Amino acid sequence: GGSGEALLAVRGLRVVFDGFVAIGGIDFTVNRGELRFLIGPNGAGKTTLVDVITGLTKPAAGSVTFGGVELVGRREYRIVKLGIGRTFQTATVFEDLTVLENIDLAASFRMAVPKLFLRRRGVTDAVAQVLETTQLAELADRKAGVLSHGQRQWLEIGMLLAQDPQLLLLDEPVAGMTKDERERTGLLLQQIAAERTVVVIEHDMEFLRRFASVVTVLHEGKVLTEGTVAEVQADPRVQEVYLGR
Ligand code: ADP
Repeated sequence: GGSGEALLAVRGLRVVFDGFVAIGGIDFTVNRGELRFLIGPNGAGKTTLVDVITGLTKPAAGSVTFGGVELVGRREYRIVKLGIGRTFQTATVFEDLTVLENIDLAASFRMAVPKLFLRRRGVTDAVAQVLETTQLAELADRKAGVLSHGQRQWLEIGMLLAQDPQLLLLDEPVAGMTKDERERTGLLLQQIAAERTVVVIEHDMEFLRRFASVVTVLHEGKVLTEGTVAEVQADPRVQEVYLGR
């Protein structure tokens, strides 16, 4: 659970695409150590919110602070360097490289540590740690291209971890996974949130009931409500826009 200290603070966020208001004034706070879930129907603005946080999309108004540092106006790589990492819906791994090589490569992008140092010894520890956390050690020498869908997702999370971000933004990590894979992913996310902060876009209600403590519901570019899974599920407005499909 979170420590009560705001790590990410989005205030009065507004995003407009060619006159279309995709985000119409969002306030959104995530505390350090939280595992927060973001839900909402298609077009609610979830991806756009993450795009603004990571510097991919410029807002028309509003502020996004991370550990007190303003992110709006910063370039993507600067935001990565500040300690924010994200995954996309489709895992982007290097298919011709092994699991170990993929994580090793991601670790070499790790900022604030000289590359030479990493190559000589640091990498071994960091990579070993990631292989252990993601339970991919047995597959270390397997080419990423032959991994199952679930294993690819874990590898992508591992590549993110190798870059040592404070905040991870994950886009539907359990989509297409089997029940066992979802369970393992949920436990992995909880483990990651014990040391870092995690924000997950996820629609799977069974998964949310099992692993979510606080859920933020977006609808038409605004925060509709926020609360426990039970609270948001019982909210008639949520049922109307999201659950009553
Ligand atoms: P979600 O991730 O919740 O499904 P998005 O953030 O992808 O929602 O999209 C929010 C709204 O903004 C949608 O109506 C979408 O069509 C629109 N949108 C997103 N990106 C762009 C863009 N680059 N140009 C125009 N409209 C966009």
